Amino acid sequence: MSDISLSASVSVTNIIALTDQLLEVALLARASDLHIEPQCQSTQVRMRVDGLMQLMTSPFEKLPSAIADAIVVRLKLLCDMDIGESRRPQDGSFQWQLNDQHVDIRCSSLVGHWGEKLVLRLQWQQQNIDLSKQGLSPEQLAIVRMQLSKPQGLILVTGPTGSGKTMFLYSCLKQIQSPYLNIVSAEDPVEVALGDVHQVAVNDVIDLSYSQILRALLRQDPDVIMLGELRDFDSADVALKAAQTGHLLLTSMHTSSLSEAIHRCHGLGVDMLALSYCLSLIINQRLVRRLCHHCKSPMTKLQLESFASKEWLDAAASYPLCFGPINPCLPVGCEGCQGGYTGRFGVFDLLVMDGSKRASVACRRVQELECGHGLRQQGLWRVFSGDTSVAEVNRVTW
Ligand SMILES: [Zn+2]
Repeated sequence: MSDISLSASVSVTNIIALTDQLLEVALLARASDLHIEPQCQSTQVRMRVDGLMQLMTSPFEKLPSAIADAIVVRLKLLCDMDIGESRRPQDGSFQWQLNDQHVDIRCSSLVGHWGEKLVLRLQWQQQNIDLSKQGLSPEQLAIVRMQLSKPQGLILVTGPTGSGKTMFLYSCLKQIQSPYLNIVSAEDPVEVALGDVHQVAVNDVIDLSYSQILRALLRQDPDVIMLGELRDFDSADVALKAAQTGHLLLTSMHTSSLSEAIHRCHGLGVDMLALSYCLSLIINQRLVRRLCHHCKSPMTKLQLESFASKEWLDAAASYPLCFGPINPCLPVGCEGCQGGYTGRFGVFDLLVMDGSKRASVACRRVQELECGHGLRQQGLWRVFSGDTSVAEVNRVTW
């Protein structure tokens, strides 16, 4: 890959070229994050692709410390960080371009035992934020569209970190963008710039918090408000009031289940009765890797028989044909993919609120809200359709 020797004597020009190549390799591999990690005698470089960490390809996976240090300086300069400061954590960002596509790169530094580690978040500006391409079934898509067409209410997206909640919220906003609606958002940070949405970023330096932004946004005549994350009482309180007073509010919460989200809201001190009246839809989401359609291999009859458990038989019996014919496959791996996978899509469990569910939320009778194995069954259906593998569904639905 590299025509530049990784000897200790690399010139400044070569360091610039080497940094460019490092970014290019990560971006071409569709990495979302790049980690430059000093170790005892060298520096390891890894990247996160489709949610999983892996070593960079040769020759970048292990760099001589002197070269890695020079690359770190180059990256810190690009981010407008203080290159004389390596003991305190810093963060910064810069724009990059690859094949006419723009990439936002956010960088953070943190010194550890072996030196300063840099983590770069790589964010393509052209993102897949089409609601119909997130992975919802046709039935789920119709429900989400219907709830988004309502003038008020609260739509809560839950899932662990990295489960695609933010992109899903963006796809909802894109779905309802219109000259007839004033759509605003409070985010930390703004990850995708949307044309017709007034997006405001949380700024700790000037003490601009979610709740402060929300209060200010409410004075700006909004119809739809997106709050990046429900994480404290103040912002939850303002958000509830907004949802109760004629606004459609979309937000997310870092929880792994619907019931955990309800408990977390209660833990934040949220008025559960008010919440039960505001909530219109709770969405629980995971991202699974998509099997590469060039190399995936259909399961043999013998392999299929090993899955003859009740759960699988139930999922097969209820399999909706909207995902296509039953054709479970295994990952293989080819030049065009990463170990048999390419890209990711969402698996969703939706809970539409009605009278009895509102009572369950108000009283936190969460066992009445969980509809058995909703999320897992959705995942198993996507195994039947040949879109993902059993291993992927097991990985994200624990
Ligand atoms: Zn492949």
